[in-house]
Amino acid sequence: MHSRTTRHSNGVKREPIPAMRTLNVDVLTLFPGILAGPLNESILKRAGEKGLISVRTWNIRDFTEDKHKTADDSPYGGGAGMVLKPEPIFRAFEALRAEYPGETMLTILLSPQGALFSHREAERLSKETRRIVLLCGHYEAIDERVRHSHVDEELSIGDYVLTGGELAALVVIDATARLIPGVLGDEESASFDSFTGGLLDYPHYTRPAEFQGMKVPDVLLSGNHEEIRRWRRREALKATLTKRPDLLDTAALTDEDGKILEELKKEL
Ligand code: SAM
Repeated sequence: MHSRTTRHSNGVKREPIPAMRTLNVDVLTLFPGILAGPLNESILKRAGEKGLISVRTWNIRDFTEDKHKTADDSPYGGGAGMVLKPEPIFRAFEALRAEYPGETMLTILLSPQGALFSHREAERLSKETRRIVLLCGHYEAIDERVRHSHVDEELSIGDYVLTGGELAALVVIDATARLIPGVLGDEESASFDSFTGGLLDYPHYTRPAEFQGMKVPDVLLSGNHEEIRRWRRREALKATLTKRPDLLDTAALTDEDGKILEELKKEL
């Protein structure tokens, strides 16, 4: 942290400015092209340009040694699908260690068998000081010896099966990157997002004030900040109660929230 604190013209003392940190991610994949587009657009692209995230893709096929660049083979014991061979992936890890000597790494295998990736997991990874290595499977599986030798943990993005780990890696990178200070233009825009405070987000409106007969709620045009805060809190509680009531079991709720929830339950 910088020790500097600033005093704003309105006299409000601001929090210390967090030192810039970079989220370092290396992705091992057979299909780096799947990641290229999303990493080179919009917020992730800008975060890369500002040095807030550094995502590097490594093509597993570059670590094959036969003339056909074979990265997969049929499974022992028979059955459908192809299995990613261990040798190229082991070599890729050797290359990673040689590239970043002395750096500690956290290797995560994207897998439908992993722990469910959530906002909390994204928060944890956003504070990770180790280099994060995301290993993407493809086809039927990765040779189990890779998991045994190189994988620290497994993450799943949901109870369904993707064709490969690349989209899952992008989900992990995207959700984690936006929690790195400076990645979102307005720092506040992450602080009220769904899940951040244990509740879903409140509804948002922008100009025009009336569109096809639908009006923006008067309170949002009132300029009364306290009334707006209360309206937003109530709407966040309402959205959570109606769409994801399970979140209320663990959300940090105030006495005021409790009263609002009682009212909402009667209303709904
Ligand atoms: N046979 C594997 C199984 O049932 O556990 C599924 C392999 S899947 C077709 C190919 C790859 O996609 C996996 O190795 C993994 O890297 C990735 N993948 C698939 N579903 C995923 C999910 N829900 N979350 C994260 N990665 C996933």
